[in-house]
Amino acid sequence: MLTPAKSRLAIEKIIALYPNAVGSLTARSPFEIVVAVLLSAQATDVSVNKATPALFERFPDPAALAAATALEVEPYIKQIGLYHNKAKYLVALGQKLETDFNGVVPHTMTELTQLPGVGRKSASVVLGDAFGIPAFAVDTHVSRIAKRLQIAAEQASVRQVETAITTALPKAEWIHGHHAMINFGRDICHAQKPACQTCPLLPMCAFGQSYVQTH
Ligand code: SF4
Repeated sequence: MLTPAKSRLAIEKIIALYPNAVGSLTARSPFEIVVAVLLSAQATDVSVNKATPALFERFPDPAALAAATALEVEPYIKQIGLYHNKAKYLVALGQKLETDFNGVVPHTMTELTQLPGVGRKSASVVLGDAFGIPAFAVDTHVSRIAKRLQIAAEQASVRQVETAITTALPKAEWIHGHHAMINFGRDICHAQKPACQTCPLLPMCAFGQSYVQTH
């Protein structure tokens, strides 16, 4: 396992590779961000971005979603995975925002995770991208990279990966670090066939050094 200081160094090397890393979901307001993040679960951001312009035109705010039925929402998100359940979540999301939050997306982890379809990871993305509040969302890319670099143990839970990273990295780097690690996972540290041979982190990555010996 890396020390927190070495973990910070590793993540900052990744951040340096992606100095302009930002989220790839297209959204213009906290409401649109929370909807887009909910839709992105087990779906590509590209498919979400294709669907959301028409969705937001028809349902521009929580009140519009709250007044809809799932059947009315479904045609707008049909090209996105799990659209049947997501349509139900969107209607429930609109109703919850209207009923408990005066139609305004809240900006605390506790409140965000009360919203239908919003877990800790999604809430962290909303905190960071909608409000600029430091949070570190751990997705499959972040988890894989953290374990390969031994920032977190192989058997670590998502929450343990989050703790390892947020302990090592200054708060001011959490939002950027999250997006940089996702880009790094998509471009270099792939789940299958990571590009270890040319990876700038190879000298500090035991997994990568072993991988290049055997592939
Ligand atoms: Fe990922 Fe390989 Fe780079 Fe290690 S050396 S961080 S496994 S791409």
